[in-house]
Amino acid sequence: MGSVFAIAVFWLVQVSALLVFLVPFTWPLFGLWAASHFLRALGLTIIFHRYLAHRAFQLSRGARFFWAVLGTAAMQKGPLWWAGNHIDHHKYADREGDPHSPALSGFYYAHIGWFLNDAKWDALPDANPVRREFGAVPELRFLDRYFWLPPLVLAVGLYAYGGLAWLAWGFCLPTVTLAHATFAINTVNHLWGTRRFATIDDSRNNAFTALFAVGEGWHNNHHRYQRAARNGFYWWEYDPTYWVVRTMAVVGLAWDLQPVPERVYKEAEHAAITEAMALRSSGERRL
Ligand SMILES: [Zn+2]
Ligand SMILES: [Zn+2]
Repeated sequence: MGSVFAIAVFWLVQVSALLVFLVPFTWPLFGLWAASHFLRALGLTIIFHRYLAHRAFQLSRGARFFWAVLGTAAMQKGPLWWAGNHIDHHKYADREGDPHSPALSGFYYAHIGWFLNDAKWDALPDANPVRREFGAVPELRFLDRYFWLPPLVLAVGLYAYGGLAWLAWGFCLPTVTLAHATFAINTVNHLWGTRRFATIDDSRNNAFTALFAVGEGWHNNHHRYQRAARNGFYWWEYDPTYWVVRTMAVVGLAWDLQPVPERVYKEAEHAAITEAMALRSSGERRL
C-alpha cells in the first residue's frame, strides 16, 4: 500500500469519528462503541503486545487466531509489524533507536508521526525477534500482509447491517478512541504518572490510560518486568487483559503464564517503604 494513500486513509478515519454527530444517540449504539473499542483492544494487548512481543504465555492456535483477527481489525497495521516495533521500544526505551519517545522526538511524533513514517512502514528487518519467532506462521503472515482486510470487512459489515449509525458508532469512533488509547501508552505513560520502579526509561504507571487500554497503563511495572502475563502487579491494578488470559487458562486455551518474580515484588515493597519513610521525615521536618 502506498504510504500517501495509507496516511490519507488514517486521517480520513480520524475525521470520520465526527459522523457520530450525524446520527441520533442511543444507548445501544454506545454499547456498540464499547464492544468494538474494548474487544479490539483485547486483541491488541493479548496478541500484539503480551503474546507476540513479550511471549508472556502460550495460546492454542485457534485462540491466537481469534484475538489476532480482532487486534488487526483495530487498524494499527499487522501483528508482526506492531510487535516487532514494540520490541525496539523496549530495547532502546527513551534512548536513540526508540521508535516513539516523547523525550527524544516530541509529543506529536511519538503519538502519531512515527506510526505514519514512511521508513517505518515495512521496515521490520528479518533479524527482528518477532519476525524470527513467528514469521513462518501462515495465518499471522497473512494478517500482517493483508492488515487492511479485517478493518475493511468490519466497516463494510457494520454499514451493511446497521447503516451509517452502526458504521459511525461501531467502527469510526471506536477505531479513533482505540488508536489514541494505544498511542497514549507511548506518550502519556512516558510523561505523566507514578514511578514505582527506578527504570532507566521515563515509563510511568497511570490508572487513566489503563482504563481505555485494558490494563496497559501500568507501564512502569511493565518496563521493569516485560515478560509477565500481567501489567497490573496487584489485584487492585485494573488489568482486564490479564483476567481474560487467566480465564482462557482455566479452560485450557492458554498456559505457561509468566509470573512476576518474587524479587520484583520485593523491589516494589522496598520502594514503597522508602517512599513512606521519605514522606514521614519530610513531615517531621515541617513540624
Ligand atoms: Zn514504554
Ligand atoms: Zn511491552
